[in-house]
Amino acid sequence: MGISKEYMDMGDSYFLHTYNRYPIVLDHGRGVNLYDAEGKEYLDFAAGIAVFALGYGDEAYNNALKEQIDKLIHTSNLYYNAPSALAAKEICRVTGMDRVFFTNSGTEAIEGAIKSALKYAYTKAPSDEYEIIAMEHSFHGRSMGALSVTGNPHYREAFGTGIGHIKFAVYNDYESVEKLVTEKTCAVIMETLQGEGGIHPADPEFVKKVRKLCDDRDILLILDEIQCGMGRTGHMFAFEEYGIKPDIMTAAKALGCGIPVGAFLMTERVAEKSLVPGDHGSTYGGNPLACAAVLAVLKEFEEKDIVSHVRELSPYLTEKLDRIKDSFDIVTDRRGMGFMQGLEFSVPVAEVIKGCQEEGLILISAGSSIIRFVPPLIIEKEDIDRMYEIITKVLQKL
Ligand SMILES: *Cc1c(COP(=O)(O)O)cnc(C)c1O
Repeated sequence: MGISKEYMDMGDSYFLHTYNRYPIVLDHGRGVNLYDAEGKEYLDFAAGIAVFALGYGDEAYNNALKEQIDKLIHTSNLYYNAPSALAAKEICRVTGMDRVFFTNSGTEAIEGAIKSALKYAYTKAPSDEYEIIAMEHSFHGRSMGALSVTGNPHYREAFGTGIGHIKFAVYNDYESVEKLVTEKTCAVIMETLQGEGGIHPADPEFVKKVRKLCDDRDILLILDEIQCGMGRTGHMFAFEEYGIKPDIMTAAKALGCGIPVGAFLMTERVAEKSLVPGDHGSTYGGNPLACAAVLAVLKEFEEKDIVSHVRELSPYLTEKLDRIKDSFDIVTDRRGMGFMQGLEFSVPVAEVIKGCQEEGLILISAGSSIIRFVPPLIIEKEDIDRMYEIITKVLQKL
């Protein structure tokens, strides 16, 4: 344990205790591998919670950041700068949206999306009673607005009533959404593929019907693509799978591949009636360094054709996960799309994750009984094989 033990003890003494951390001190990464302070190698199937899509040490990405650091890191949004203008143009192009606001995190992107929807409704007819329909088992972040639309009472319990006027429908149950609609409903917010809630993809019928409901009643559809976006499902954004477009969407996680950056985007139709100067802002949001990261990520995605790679290789991942499901009785389901998959267990998965760590494989859960597979998007067949061998070995021992 040596040096690692020292840092773990130090952290435990000074961090606010909000995380139950695994007993690993990570030191550096290469490609799809991470190394701890003692030099032990781990195959990373978590990517820093679906963030590090390009893997560790991507040369073009790292060089773009180094260049920008030497040039200009921050200016505030009182002025223009090249990386943020270019990143805005690129992210609008790849999402098919018209306007973007860059944030520092996913939860802030959700805050902005909520404010945008409320302002849109307010512009049409001023009122402080507009309602938002969110989904049970959703996860949208930890700030008060994002928490208020997060459909997990456990996360909200100690923190009051939230922003109010939020109603929860059942994901993939269209009638449950329809039933909640009133003349005050201004938005429906959901993940296109629920992540934290246990890797649940949206049903095509559900998405299409909600889209139509929103169109018919001028309700805004907000899709949270923070985890499922950026190539992870084999589409640049998961909503492409359904042949629909949101009115407002959010991105983060892999958007900056490790540099903290998020975004909320909207169509021109929404923007025309939504936030104006004075309504929203951020000191750091979309600063030159963050936007240099976004630009470099989008460029690498295109040059390496990451989305096609995910699409080509994900059937292989699916096949291996299905084989695990078929081989072990305690594995009860496999769900997901592309490189965003989950295996559901009939037992808590903490022991499995711990066992895999000891064997050099980093995995994370989504809830207590689901293992989530969100590897860097650059993994190859042999990485999937290695993952498969380690999990199989660990499950045989259990
Ligand atoms: C992670 C996540 C968020 C919150 O993002 P942070 O950057 O942690 O604030 C919101 N929505 C979804 C779907 C997420 O997976």
